[in-house]
Amino acid sequence: MAGLTLYYRGPLSSCNYTCDYCPFAKEWEEPEVLAADRAGLERFVAWASAWDGPELSILFTPWGEALVRSWYREALVALSHLPRVKRVAAQTNLSYALDWLGSADLATLALWTTWHPSQCPRDRFVRQCARLDAMGVRYSVGVVGLREHLPAIEALRAELDPGVQVWVNAYKRVEGYYAAGEVERITAVDPRFPDNRVYPSLGRACLAGETHFTVDGDGTVRRCHFIDAPLGNLYEGALDAMLARRPCTNAVCRCHIGYVHMPELGLYDVYGAGLMERIVEGP
Ligand code: SF4
Ligand code: SF4
Repeated sequence: MAGLTLYYRGPLSSCNYTCDYCPFAKEWEEPEVLAADRAGLERFVAWASAWDGPELSILFTPWGEALVRSWYREALVALSHLPRVKRVAAQTNLSYALDWLGSADLATLALWTTWHPSQCPRDRFVRQCARLDAMGVRYSVGVVGLREHLPAIEALRAELDPGVQVWVNAYKRVEGYYAAGEVERITAVDPRFPDNRVYPSLGRACLAGETHFTVDGDGTVRRCHFIDAPLGNLYEGALDAMLARRPCTNAVCRCHIGYVHMPELGLYDVYGAGLMERIVEGP
């Protein structure tokens, strides 16, 4: 993938849902935290508007749900119209009215949606997806692979348009979680499910920190969400001076948004132009 990819995550950590596998369920911030989140995002959009370097592919990876906040919807629309932004996408639970997407450049904007079965009836989620289809929005649909949700995951796959990418995140908190036959059932829904592993990464090549980086609400640049050491600040230094080839310093990489940047796995070739929104598209 040519250009730079980056993940933005501001201080916002609230969500309108209460998934029991998530620490951000129904958490609400103080107004001053929300104001700081909004200011940080507006500064980031201003930075991207002035950017004249390599094309950017941006994914919003909030702790909670960002698109219930107007400033994130406005940011996505604004970024989608920028000439140096090749793709802007966001991880989202799709729990809101979708009309605002009509203002975006839908050749650039995409959504990484996740269905949370305990929070949203399947028929409501499928109706939201049908609206995205009608509007021409690019999106993937994911779900956490809890065993008790397997029949619902299969039903979801059957009810969505066959062209919609459905992915399943492996439940990794319990070792040996899946019983015989369950991995095969999930793989029938998501052929890339076997990629969901914990990869040894210490000393191995990773594009995080070279052509990929993360930005937080203060502009702190890091190579990825899993290594705390800052590389610099987006608003205070030259990005060129922060980005360089470096081996991974963590023992393992356990999350799709991390290990997808390890060249040895070849996942850039698998996802191609759909890398940010997790759509298998090839080179
Ligand atoms: S929708 Fe996402 S952020 Fe919100 S509670 Fe569920 S897992 Fe957490
Ligand atoms: S392998 Fe994972 S933890 Fe290591 S640098 Fe890459 S994204 Fe970060």
